[in-house]
Amino acid sequence: MDSLLIKNLRASVAGQEILRGLSLQVPKGEVHAIMGPNGSGKSTLSKVVCGHPDYEVHSGEIFLDGEPILELEPDQRARLGLFLAFQYPCEIAGVSNANFLRAALQARLPKGEEIDAVAYYKRLYEKMDMLEMDRKFTARSVNDGFSGGEKKRNEILQLAMLDPKYAILDETDSGLDIDALRIVADGVNRLRGPNIGILLITHYQRLLNYIVPDVVHVMVKGRIVRSGGKELALDLEEKGYDWILKECAEEISA
Ligand code: ADP
Ligand code: MG
Repeated sequence: MDSLLIKNLRASVAGQEILRGLSLQVPKGEVHAIMGPNGSGKSTLSKVVCGHPDYEVHSGEIFLDGEPILELEPDQRARLGLFLAFQYPCEIAGVSNANFLRAALQARLPKGEEIDAVAYYKRLYEKMDMLEMDRKFTARSVNDGFSGGEKKRNEILQLAMLDPKYAILDETDSGLDIDALRIVADGVNRLRGPNIGILLITHYQRLLNYIVPDVVHVMVKGRIVRSGGKELALDLEEKGYDWILKECAEEISA
């Protein structure tokens, strides 16, 4: 089965072990959500999967459609079809959004092949319209001076343009007001389908009202401690994280 498969992953940052034997499989065609208290290592997981150099992997494996990716550079992982929407997107002054996206797409083409500019802009405008983004955002520097919500929308624009096989969205809902949340969720819902696996990381259940996941995982202290259907998210909304921390106390401290 084609999937993003994570096996028994242990990883640390700044000398502290954050992921402590995490296993997870996101099959192509499904949307999985990871919920968990702040500090449980959700963003760490997304960065390790994408190959952030600050994070050290001690053991475990990650496979993209059966291919091991831990030895690959971030750009190689991206070329294999991996995408990450950051929790805190960075600003790149002096590089326009349109040039940035074009360079990202160009980098995936075989040597000697050029992007067709007319087709590129047509597609860019289509995706921007879908996300209700003003055209002026093509000329503005990447995320430079964007509001929190505009940055998140811009991450989804990148997702739509790059058309990856697996996408990790790290708290794409945070900082969005309800209208922006709907637009972003509509965008993701239009992109979901049999050819993409999506991992939604979120602290709150709210996003999952709009993007209904196939599976919900709960992450605590660097491990998945529970997996279930979308009802699990509602349970967490209603009862908070405390009950799960109690129920899984032994597992968590092990
Ligand atoms: P979450 O996304 O679930 O809130 P994070 O993965 O951001 O959790 O953080 C997990 C833990 O790792 C936290 O204690 C955080 O302070 C620590 N951490 C994450 N990134 C770094 C870093 N670059 N340097 C030091 N500590 C970090
Ligand atoms: Mg986080």
